[in-house]
Amino acid sequence: MSVKKKNTIRWGMVGGGRGSQIGYIHRSAALRDDTFELVAGAFDIDPQRGRAFGIDLGLDEARSYPDYGTMFAEEQKRADGIEAVSIATPNNTHFSICKAALEHGLHVVCEKPLCFTVEEAKELKALAEARGLIVGVTYGYAGHQMIEQARAMVMNGDLGEIRIVNLQFAHGFHSAPVEEQNPSTRWRVDPKFAGPSYVLGDVGTHPLYISEVVLPHLKIRRLMCVRQSFVKSRAPLEDNAVTLMEYDNGAIANVWSSAVNAGSMHGQKVRIVGSKASIEWWDERPNQLSYEIQGEPVRILERGMDYLYPQARLDDRIGGGHPEGLFEAWANLYRRFALAINGNRGLAPEGIEDLVFPGVDAGLEGVRWVENCIRSADAGGLWVDYE
Ligand code: NAD
Repeated sequence: MSVKKKNTIRWGMVGGGRGSQIGYIHRSAALRDDTFELVAGAFDIDPQRGRAFGIDLGLDEARSYPDYGTMFAEEQKRADGIEAVSIATPNNTHFSICKAALEHGLHVVCEKPLCFTVEEAKELKALAEARGLIVGVTYGYAGHQMIEQARAMVMNGDLGEIRIVNLQFAHGFHSAPVEEQNPSTRWRVDPKFAGPSYVLGDVGTHPLYISEVVLPHLKIRRLMCVRQSFVKSRAPLEDNAVTLMEYDNGAIANVWSSAVNAGSMHGQKVRIVGSKASIEWWDERPNQLSYEIQGEPVRILERGMDYLYPQARLDDRIGGGHPEGLFEAWANLYRRFALAINGNRGLAPEGIEDLVFPGVDAGLEGVRWVENCIRSADAGGLWVDYE
C-alpha cells in the first residue's frame, strides 16, 4: 500500500500513453508540486502497450490496467484506490470515460472538448454536482500568470470600458495533409473521433476560455461564423474558421481559429481594447503582457515583478527574469485542481472561494460556443442568437 503524503491525491490516467502528444505534460504538471501521486493508469488503446508503459513509469504492475473500465472497477475495491483521474484520449471518448469516472466517485481532469454536445455537458455537470465531485478541463494556457494580471487590470478599470476583443489561435502546422503520415493528426480531422468541428474546438476554444477568465462580466449575445476546409479531404471538418461575436454590453469580438496559417507557429493572441488602453498577450511570449495606453509609449509588463497585481504574483515560482512556460502554466492549473478537490472534501478549504480554474462550466461553455459557431456556419454564415 502506498504511503500518502499530506493531502496528496491518489491519481490515475486514462490515455496519454507512450508517444501521445499531451500525456507527458499532464504527468509533469500534476506531479510538479506533490499535489497528485500517479498510482494507476490505463494509458493506451492497445492494452499491452499501455500496461508496459505504466510499468516503465514505475507503477505497481497490478495497477497498470488494460482498459479504463477495469481500472475504475478494481481501484474502487482498494482502500488506497485512486481519488482522481485525468482523461487524455481522443475527443470521442471523453464523455463516456468522464461519466464512468464520476459514477465511480472520482474527481476528473478532462481534456478539451469535455464532450460533443451541450446536453452531454449538462449531464456531466449534474452528475458531478450530485456527487460533490470536481471536474477540471485543461485549458492549459489559462495557467499563465499574465492572464491573472490581465484579469485584474480589466477588473480594476485600467483599460476603461471594454470595446473590442481580438482573439486568434492560428497555427500553420497542418497547411498540408500531414494526417496522411501522422496518427495524432489523423483522428483530429475525422468527425467520428474529433466530433463536429476541428479547429474551432481544437484551438479556438483556448483563447475563448482566456477571454472568459479576463472578461467574466461579458456575455455573448449573438455570433456569426464561417468555416472552410482548405485541405479538401478534411471536409466536413474545417481547418480554418472566422467568428464574429457581439457581447451584451455592445462590445465586439473576432476569433480566428486555424491550422493552415502557413508559416505561423501557434499564433495564439488575446488583445483586449478598452476606451482608455489595450492589452495584448501571445502564448509564445507568455511572460510579457503589452499594456498600451492611448497617447503614451507602449509598456511591456514582465511576469514576477512587484508592480503586478497581487493575483498575478500568487503562482510565482522563480521570480521575474527567468522565463516560465507551458509546464509552469499547466502546473499552476493542476495545483488549482488539487486545491479545489481538497477544498471540496474539507481538506484545507481556506482560500478556494477565489480560485479561478477551468471547471465543468468552462467545459460546457467551450462546447456551447462550438455548437453555436457550427449552427451559424452551416446556415451560410448567419448571425445566430447565442443559445
Ligand atoms: P494522441 O493521439 O497523441 O494520444 C492519444 C492517447 O490516448 C494514445 O496514447 C492512445 O493510445 C490513448 N487512447 C486512445 N483511446 C484510449 C482509450 N479508450 N483508453 C485508453 N487510452 C486510449 O492524442 P493527443 O494529441 O495527446 O490528444 C489527446 C487529447 O488531448 C485530445 O482530446 C486533444 O484535444 C487534447 N489535447 C489538448 C491540448 C491542450 O492544450 N489542452 C493539447 C493537445 C491535445
